[in-house]
Amino acid sequence: MRVPLLDIKLQYQSLKKELDEAVIKVAESQHFILGPEVSTMEKEFCNYLGCKHALGVSSGTDALLLALMAIDIKPGDEVILPTYSFFATAGVVSRLFATPVFAENDPVTFNIDPKDFERKITAKTKAVIPVHLYGQSAEMDEIIKIAKAHNLIVIEDAAQAIGTQYKDGRYAGTIGDIGCFSFFPSKNLGCYGDGGLVTTNNDELAKVLTIKRVHGGEPKYYHKVIGGNFRLDALQAAVLKVKLPHLDKWSEKRRQNANRYTQLFKDAGLAEGTGKTTFDSKNKVLLPEAIFQSSKVKNYHIYNQYIVRVENRDALREFLTKNEIGTEIYYPVPFHLQECFNDLGYKKGNFPISEFAADKSLALPIFPELEDDQLVYVVDTFKKFFNQ
Ligand SMILES: *Cc1c(COP(=O)(O)O)cnc(C)c1O
Repeated sequence: MRVPLLDIKLQYQSLKKELDEAVIKVAESQHFILGPEVSTMEKEFCNYLGCKHALGVSSGTDALLLALMAIDIKPGDEVILPTYSFFATAGVVSRLFATPVFAENDPVTFNIDPKDFERKITAKTKAVIPVHLYGQSAEMDEIIKIAKAHNLIVIEDAAQAIGTQYKDGRYAGTIGDIGCFSFFPSKNLGCYGDGGLVTTNNDELAKVLTIKRVHGGEPKYYHKVIGGNFRLDALQAAVLKVKLPHLDKWSEKRRQNANRYTQLFKDAGLAEGTGKTTFDSKNKVLLPEAIFQSSKVKNYHIYNQYIVRVENRDALREFLTKNEIGTEIYYPVPFHLQECFNDLGYKKGNFPISEFAADKSLALPIFPELEDDQLVYVVDTFKKFFNQ
């Protein structure tokens, strides 16, 4: 049986007619950049997320870069972020000649450890970027409390977290000062190319974001500040408008798949449950924490990824590949061990939890259209590997 890591053609098939019509409508309008498609899309995202302002931008990376430019991050400034995330989270800080300062992640949620964030604060710190990694919200109450006490701005990297809710039900990306989303095609809500969104509840920040999205001219061609070309295409907005009403249904399917994996791994005797952090005879596969199973907590994990940690990962991955199961390693190298950050002076051993995650993590197929026999086959193949 073939189980790809992701198959976005299945989603396209299910909405083909509406999507094709939306694309043709843009072609007929010949209005390609920003304009009415983008502004109606922005309103729909404000409604969905429950935030005051949403701006379509050119990618998730540009959303982060624009957010940092909007708060005037300058050379010499420090921005704290988790060492274990997608490269963009750190790259944008360096692109403004500011210094990314790395913090350790929590071993269960894979999100930034608020205590380590606090330890890393200096007189030069201007902002923190919590990442809602794999689709589960970071511990925002603690992060915001610490940030407020030190006058820091909170920029949420919600690129993997469209539809994620924090434990109190608020949407990821609407809790800090600015939220940044990505619509890269493989994200939970993907467009037809690159696309992203910045959100804020702050009117002043919204004004600056709007001006800096288009080179910083206000009025046009008169520049008090420098921005960039961070505009979103009408085509992407039209596609996103078709897809957004289906997002919750897709998230639910991902959560069901995650629950099913967890049950199957338990039944197979490979894992006792979620949240374990050490391997032993009963825990050959460490499962992601599924906090949503508690009825009192609203923490809504949207499973952009379902990540297990396993010993002998590379051998297991090869075995899965041979059996036609797609997997990926998100991410093999934490920032503090990336060559481009050598001059920041970190070394191996600085962040043991993130290094463990980088060595042991494996992403399994979790997309909404998976069939039950495919999930069963994945876990059966794990069983074969561990019992051979
Ligand atoms: C995907 C992603 C980004 C970047 O988004 P793009 O749209 O690909 O530029 C940033 N941060 C995280 C955590 C991501 O997963």
